Amino acid sequence: MFGPEISQLLQLLGKLPGVGPRSAKRMALHLLKKRQTLLPQLVTVLQEAQTKVKTCSFCHNLDSIDPCSICSDVKRDKTSLCLVEEVSDLWAMERTHNFRGVYHILGGVLSAIDGIGPEQLNITSLMGRVAREQFQEVILATSATVNGQTTAYYITELLEQYPIRVTRLAYGLPVGGSLDYLDETTISLALQARLPFKQTLP
Ligand SMILES: [Zn+2]
Repeated sequence: MFGPEISQLLQLLGKLPGVGPRSAKRMALHLLKKRQTLLPQLVTVLQEAQTKVKTCSFCHNLDSIDPCSICSDVKRDKTSLCLVEEVSDLWAMERTHNFRGVYHILGGVLSAIDGIGPEQLNITSLMGRVAREQFQEVILATSATVNGQTTAYYITELLEQYPIRVTRLAYGLPVGGSLDYLDETTISLALQARLPFKQTLP
């Protein structure tokens, strides 16, 4: 039906997360249709991403500079460290414009089933930073899953030898959410984490 160039394109696009064979076909056809305009731009951008994007040697964030723009920002509060699983979680936190500290990206969570132990995560570099830097608070922002919890617990134990306040993000009801649509665990945790009403007002 078509040459190896097109089938390779389909194969590669299909390797992207969330892209099934149908989406891969739609993307490939769109790119080929725009092969004088969008495609060359994409080629350039991909090449630049490959050569210029680096992993921050402090927090494992992705940026074109190392240390990344967050670690090298003198206005960030270097006493507050937020621990996240992935770069996408850092981006989500940054979207809130509410956190002015710095981050550490774990690169995943502990998972016995997937064979992910502490040595597969960025824990050694975390402990190195904790020993070297002057953190007063570590905010555990791993996901509210069993593995996320296990990971948070494991790290809390490691941090116990330091005079650091260890906190985690609160579990709660989604803003605009109705109880009717939520699972029992979410409701139970929100009930446990209840706050005096006036404290919850913005
Ligand atoms: Zn960084």
